[in-house]
Amino acid sequence: MTRRIEFVEVGPRDGLQNETTLISTADKVELIRRAAAAGAGRIELTSFVNPRKVPQMADAEDVVVQVGALEGVTRIGLVLNERGAERALACGLDQLGAVAVASDAFGIRNQGQTSEQSVEVSERIIAMARAVGKTAQVTIAVAFGCPFGGDVDPAHVVAMAARLAKAGPVEIALADTIGVAVPPQVSALVAAVREVIAPLPVRVHFHNTRGTGIANVWAAVEAGASVVDGSIGGLGGCPFAPGAAGNVASEDVAWMLERSGVETGLDLGKLIEASRWLGKVMDKEMPSMLAKVGQK
Ligand code: ZN
Repeated sequence: MTRRIEFVEVGPRDGLQNETTLISTADKVELIRRAAAAGAGRIELTSFVNPRKVPQMADAEDVVVQVGALEGVTRIGLVLNERGAERALACGLDQLGAVAVASDAFGIRNQGQTSEQSVEVSERIIAMARAVGKTAQVTIAVAFGCPFGGDVDPAHVVAMAARLAKAGPVEIALADTIGVAVPPQVSALVAAVREVIAPLPVRVHFHNTRGTGIANVWAAVEAGASVVDGSIGGLGGCPFAPGAAGNVASEDVAWMLERSGVETGLDLGKLIEASRWLGKVMDKEMPSMLAKVGQK
């Protein structure tokens, strides 16, 4: 199994996107700087989506410009279509994040695309990044279950991954967008996808909606996933489950993996500090466990 993973901080995008309290651009920049200082080698800065649909991301360009270059950090911008990709590339981001959806019902509601259309759009987004010497990653959303269609056929996800891998992304992620996955399901899907995309890495993205997030991270790493997403403080909620906990917390992931002998490159103390700072900014108690109990 992998003894070292690459960590991707998604708090500034996925974490904040699902929060109704609008955060200032300055605080978003501060969150990104804190994530970089805590050792996140890649950070999802923002998403380039319709500001009427996602008001929290209306300042996408300003966030990128104000953050500027971050030494040793790959700055990612999430995009759902070519228009978003153009905006992200225009402000100089390092990497585009495309989203392919495993279910038609979710895709049509989330981004106005069927599963097939989302794969085609993702292929074009990856090509747009590569054409200008940048990189792209792609996430398969609702890979473990859909809030509208229920169970998702793993064979469909594997076929999507095999096809997307040919477009040349840096990796393919499996996202449990609504937090329904359980460890055996994660082990099986990560292994199956790995088999068809190797040597391309598998990244995983979990939400702790039903308390299985951290167990799913472990199952994924044991099955060979080598890139893991997390969100400082465990911010992020689930747009389809009001009151839900958020993404797996970066500090909880760091603690669990490091104690299990898997290097993350993260500084736990700095993550906890950042998490507590964010709690004050948002005036809410973070779902994170480590931020509550501290490092020792
Ligand atoms: Zn998410």
